[in-house]
Parts: sequence; structure tokens; C-alpha cells
Amino acid sequence: MNSNLKHAQDLIDFIGNSPSPYHVVRNVKNILLENNFTELNFKNKWTIEKEGKYFVTQNDTSLFAFKVGISDIASSGFKIVAAHSDSPTFKIKPSPEISVEDKYIKFNTETYGSPILNTWLDRPLSIAGRVSCKGKNSLNPITHLVAIEQPILIIPNLPIHFNRTVNEGIALNKQVDMLPIAALINEDLNKDLLLATKISEVINVPVEDILEVDLNLYDVAKGSIIGLNNEFICSGKLDDLAMVHAGLSALLDSDQTTSTNVLAIFDNEEVGSRSKQGAGSPILKDVLSRILNIQGANEEDSQRAIYNSFMVSADMAHALHPNHPDKHDPVNRPIINAGPVIKIEGNQKYTTDSNSCAVFEMICKEAAIPYQKFVNRSDMLGGGTLGNVSAGQLAMRSVDVGNPMWAMHSVRETSGVDDHTFMTKALEGFYDAE
Ligand SMILES: [Zn+2]
Repeated sequence: MNSNLKHAQDLIDFIGNSPSPYHVVRNVKNILLENNFTELNFKNKWTIEKEGKYFVTQNDTSLFAFKVGISDIASSGFKIVAAHSDSPTFKIKPSPEISVEDKYIKFNTETYGSPILNTWLDRPLSIAGRVSCKGKNSLNPITHLVAIEQPILIIPNLPIHFNRTVNEGIALNKQVDMLPIAALINEDLNKDLLLATKISEVINVPVEDILEVDLNLYDVAKGSIIGLNNEFICSGKLDDLAMVHAGLSALLDSDQTTSTNVLAIFDNEEVGSRSKQGAGSPILKDVLSRILNIQGANEEDSQRAIYNSFMVSADMAHALHPNHPDKHDPVNRPIINAGPVIKIEGNQKYTTDSNSCAVFEMICKEAAIPYQKFVNRSDMLGGGTLGNVSAGQLAMRSVDVGNPMWAMHSVRETSGVDDHTFMTKALEGFYDAE
């Protein structure tokens, strides 16, 4: 297996082991610990040393890892790669069991973010996330991660005979059409506590101690390498776990530099980033301030550090769709495996400007990596991402980049094998840049 394929397979395995944002952060945390990073806690006092490697998590779904730079922090600042841990899915509502004619049990859910609904139909699904259980006192519940792993759910389509016009397009109702079926009712089944009973078995905690859950659905099918020449990665959650994985690999492989290198993994990008663990919160600013304060930086030094810093906001991008080339800008048409995409938007939904774009281009050129540009067709609206939300908290130079992919927000997305290595090398080049 060539090295690009190996790196792509590593990404597929990482995503396969990350069925919820809680699992993403747990997996990143374990990899950092294996690589001699020290865990800090927002609630405790921090001790950090020059050239040390640290990380801190928030709410189990966002994580900030950093390697402390070797020179004066005010003049060298931070180099930050930002990505997000969440993906569009369905969340389990409280008391989820709904009985259908006393024969079937289905689960009540709500959408999280903007999934392409029809891609979730007729697939074996399961449930993963976090469970809060009774703790020693009321302010501190005990947290368990849970992944049921076996396929327990399905959201069946209507047969075509009941919906003859299905192939002309169908509006799926989130409350009616998208509820997953879990079981047939029988005498042994505790139909009101079906999910709690299952979770209790998996985490080995009595049902009565399970207080609340943060659970999402996921596709149990693992990703795969596809294409006649093994050129594509086909997997769920490439947006944005591909960038989490690329950023993490880059941070681990990067050299010790004058600046402090940071990997910021935020939650809740898919729902606007406005949460205590999202890019719209002061959390990144808090992490940077803390690093500065510990090193004795005064107010002016701290501001200098921020203004000497640079952020790469890394979130996946749209590749030219082979069946819909008309959807793209007439000139800038990103192709899979033709390198990282720099995202540009005149109205500042992306943070890229000529200065930050030039920085990323030079990094790619120095690493001999191809790159491309994305702009929306002028008559189509695109989505924003982490960069412009974070800019509301930190006045820092920033560029928006991502790898080209098809079917963003489908339960199964497709990107390029070579692009994953290209992006990882570009981010490593960014961290190594002096
Ligand atoms: Zn994204």
C-alpha cells in the first residue's frame, strides 16, 4: 500500500472509531497522550513550559492542543489550525420510545445541522454519544461515552407502489418520515425504557442511575477506498473529521518552531457555532490568553501575540460535481486529488483575503503541493464556517481552506486519497513555517 493510501485508510479507521463528537475528542485525546502531550483542565491551575506539549478539552466535544514555541511569544504569536468535531445527524429526543399500533417501537429524533435526509433511509444505523449518570453530588454527574456498535435501527423508505412519484422528488418530513424503527414489541420488552435498558447493558450502569443522554444516530457501515485506481475516500463525516485528522497528523509531525502551534477542534459548527464549546464562544481566546498569562505576557504583549498570529480554518470544500458542472463558478472549479482548496468569498463568509491567500499559496509551493480555489457561482449562496465566526472573537489573519469533496452532508461523502496527504503536508508546512 502506498503512503497516501495508508494515510487515507488511517483516516477511514479514525472516522470509523468516532461515531459521535464525544468519541472524536476521546480518540484525539488518546493519540495526543500516546505522543507525550500533557492534559490540562480549564478548572485547574496550569503549569506550562517552553517547548512543552499540552491539550485541554471542553464539554468532551471540543479540544485545543498546543506545542509551546521556543521564542518570545509576543513577537512570534500562534499558528492555529481550526476544524470541527460535529457532523449533521439526528439526535435522540427525551423519552424517545414511540409505540406504533402496539406492534413496533420507533425512536423520536430531531435533526442536528443539515443532513441530506434521503441518504439516511434504508441503512443499518446505530446510536452513540454521552450519558450523564448519577454522581456523588447533584452538580457533578458521572459521564460515560457510549456506542452501541451493533446495527439496531433503520429508517425505511415507503415502497414505490405507495409513492409512484418518488423519483420526481419527494419532500421528507423530519417528524414523520425520518424516525428510526428499533424493535418489534413482545412481552419481554420494557417499551418505555427500551433505549435506557440497552444503554445500561452497554455501559454497565443500572437503568435508574442513567439521568440524561446526548445521543446521535450514525451509519454503522465503515468507510472505504473506492475508484478503479483507488483514488477516492468514501465515508461518513469527512466534513469535517478529515480536517481534524489532517490537522492532528500535521501537529504531531511538525517541528518545534518559534511560534506556539495550536490545533483547535470546535463543536457545533453545523449549528452555527454559538455554544460554550463552539467557535462563537470565547474558548479559543481563553486558551490563548492562558498560555500568554502563564508566560508573563502583559496586556500589550498579549495583543501583539494575537496580531502576530495566523489561523488556517480547515473545513471541507466542494469539488466539481461530474453530473452537475453547471452548479459551479465558470472559472474556479476544484477537482478531486488536485490539491487543497482555498475558499474565497467577497462578502467574508470565508476569511480569506489576498494576504492570507498568498500565505497559504506560498506554503503549498514550498512543500511542492498543488492547490486550487473555490468561489461560489455569483447567483448561489454558500455556507460559512469556523474562520469568520472565530474572527468575531480574535482579530487575526486567517485563511479558509478544505479538501474538495462530493455530497457534503450526505451520510456518505466522497473525497480524494491524494488530497488527504496533500492537505496534511500543507498544514505541517504551515506549522513549520518561520
Ligand atoms: Zn464542515
